[in-house]
Amino acid sequence: MTLLKIEGLQARVAGREILQGVDLEVSSGEVHAVMGPNGSGKSTLSHVLAGRPGYEVTGGSVTLDGVDLLGLPAWRRAQLGLFLALQYPIEVPGVSLLDALSESFRAAGRNPAEVPALLTSEAGRIGFDERFITRPLNVDLSGGERKRNETLQLGVLRPRFAILDELDSGLDVDALRDVARRIEAATHEDNLGVLAITHYSRLLTELRPDVVHVLAGGRIVATGGPELAQELEETGYAGYVEPDPTAIRGGADDPFADPFA
Ligand code: ADP
Ligand code: MG
Repeated sequence: MTLLKIEGLQARVAGREILQGVDLEVSSGEVHAVMGPNGSGKSTLSHVLAGRPGYEVTGGSVTLDGVDLLGLPAWRRAQLGLFLALQYPIEVPGVSLLDALSESFRAAGRNPAEVPALLTSEAGRIGFDERFITRPLNVDLSGGERKRNETLQLGVLRPRFAILDELDSGLDVDALRDVARRIEAATHEDNLGVLAITHYSRLLTELRPDVVHVLAGGRIVATGGPELAQELEETGYAGYVEPDPTAIRGGADDPFADPFA
């Protein structure tokens, strides 16, 4: 069994304390959703877990099956089976998906000759155009295609644990269903543990969460079952965030008001 354990995690970015003591435990085969208003620290949490440079951990611990992750570079964390699907997947000119995954296999001591067949079968599972396999990674791809590309990588690499940072953003309804079903299948086939960051309960109708957390102001402020996601969709985060007295807001009937502000 795999256990990702986050205890009292505090982290700072660009001199500002963003994570203020996050506690979370996710076991293999489980899906935990993390929801929360814009700017609450969701992506920061995903970057700190993956080991992105520039994010300074100022307290707490993160372990994967008892192994301390915070002392390791990103590539070592990936080798231990941690996978991050980025909110904004970057373009990597000159490197194809096939190249990138072949190198990942080599680095993990797996046989890269297996990659092409796996890519073809995974592309079929999520309805992803096979032409993208040999093209430069994410270059000129639409937002939705990039999100499918992230899912394709997850399917080929078969990590033990996946953090999905708004995997649903930019996906149309059909793509969302394909991607969510593929990940849901991995929780059964590979006992994948998932931390799914999302704004919308739509993703969670296919990728069914065992637990839903609300992250606000750099802390987990509420935890519940799937019904919590539904409740948030209806009521928003107003009950979980302290109003900012300096914020300039429109009236209640302002059609341009940010529902997450
Ligand atoms: P969320 O994903 O919940 O919308 P983020 O984790 O992206 O929120 O951001 C949390 C806060 O940290 C925001 O106020 C954001 O501006 C700030 N922040 C995140 N990354 C950086 C960075 N690299 N440099 C400066 N500020 C950052
Ligand atoms: Mg984010």
